Amino acid sequence: MEKLIVANWKMNPGTQQEVIELFDAVSRGITRNLTQNNAEVVICPPFIYLPLLKGLTLGAQNVSVEPKGAFTSQVSATQLKDLGVEYVIVGHSESRKYLHETDEEISKKLKTALAAGLKPILCVGENEGEDRTEVLATQLAEGLQGLLGVIIAYEPVWAIGTDKNCDTQSVVEAAKVIKKIAGDVGVIYGGSVNAENAKQYLEVVDGLLVGGASLKPEEFINIVRSVD
Ligand code: PEP
Repeated sequence: MEKLIVANWKMNPGTQQEVIELFDAVSRGITRNLTQNNAEVVICPPFIYLPLLKGLTLGAQNVSVEPKGAFTSQVSATQLKDLGVEYVIVGHSESRKYLHETDEEISKKLKTALAAGLKPILCVGENEGEDRTEVLATQLAEGLQGLLGVIIAYEPVWAIGTDKNCDTQSVVEAAKVIKKIAGDVGVIYGGSVNAENAKQYLEVVDGLLVGGASLKPEEFINIVRSVD
């Protein structure tokens, strides 16, 4: 099965010039080195850069629950689809934390995204000290409610941007819990993935969600090359 490698650029890089340079470097590396590679690579830049980037599959970092109207600052699923965007990250821990997104709202976002023909990537995972199984059960019970076509990213919050990546056995256990609740869904892992540890996860899950390391073209290309 093709592995899904998703780059979450978050609110980076800082200028249009840097975005274009980063995208070009990643695109060149991927087309030059990876023609036989069994990976689908998705780049999720800040919203404003989506129309500038052509040639690789694109994803958005969030989506509105609403279809259109007086919702200042928001971007709808149909607007993203119209731009050629294919994937959307939903319920990232940073959106849950800073935008106070609830599981109920996240569930509505999944429905809106699916209805518009986007492929949602639902992020779930426990904070430091929380019970993983309990958190996954709550987030998935609220978030999924029988929806088909959602990809689940297991992202333990304590592993994001910390260099404290999760051990493979725990990822295997989390994927089991996820599949028990959500059925036969694609499960990817995110949390301090780099070129050195990518392969160990690719052996046990369907792909990776990469934050910090996706901003370094060589490192990211090497992560994609770990797929064989
Ligand atoms: C993320 O933000 O989804 C993420 C996994 O970040 P990082 O790879 O930097 O831990």
